[in-house]
Amino acid sequence: MSPSLILHGGAGAQDPTLRDVRLQGLRRAFDAAWTILQHGGAALDAAVRAVVELENEPVFNAGVGSCLTEDGDVEMDASVMEGTTFRVGAVGAVRTVRNPVLLAKALLETERHVFLVGDGADRFARTQGFPVAMREELRTERQLQRWRVAQTKGEPGTVGAVALDKTGHLAAATSTGGIFNKQSGRIGDSPIIGAGTYADDTLGASSATGQGEAIIRTMLTRTAV
Ligand code: ASP
Repeated sequence: MSPSLILHGGAGAQDPTLRDVRLQGLRRAFDAAWTILQHGGAALDAAVRAVVELENEPVFNAGVGSCLTEDGDVEMDASVMEGTTFRVGAVGAVRTVRNPVLLAKALLETERHVFLVGDGADRFARTQGFPVAMREELRTERQLQRWRVAQTKGEPGTVGAVALDKTGHLAAATSTGGIFNKQSGRIGDSPIIGAGTYADDTLGASSATGQGEAIIRTMLTRTAV
């Protein structure tokens, strides 16, 4: 079967001056994940790889460059789902991990729990050998500047990927810093399976972006799939 891959870099009004650099980031992420699929790698690995690359790009609202809470902190959400076995992993309000999607994947692999949030998720990261990412590493000047002027628009730049591998298996992955100026403790749709991320080999796969509160109400990705 020919592989397939779709990425997104978030809904919402984009800053036109960042358009090119965002497109380049998406292209780099696509190439990295596509190489995995072309070499017969798994859909899950490809989707996660794409999202890792985008988390590392400060112009997206995920990982480094995540938008800030009203307290000026970073609290990130991410999830992954495999369409064959329905294995899932999700983390919410994580503060000290550079690549939350990798933490979500680590949780998927433990097969004990499917969703960890807050301090417990950060502690799980330490048990899995993830280094501590300091707030200064994740909080970019651009986001600090926006926080200082306290705009209240939604934040574009959540990232997501869906992949179909050569064996016909599907996977989806999503990662976000959430919405700008959110209340501390707020978790959106991105780490909620069925809302922000969903995959089912027999039907399709989906990664959402947009206002999380509305996406949760409609369980958008599962409904779409
Ligand atoms: N869906 C994300 C959230 O509500 C935000 C986004 O997609 O831009 O946390």
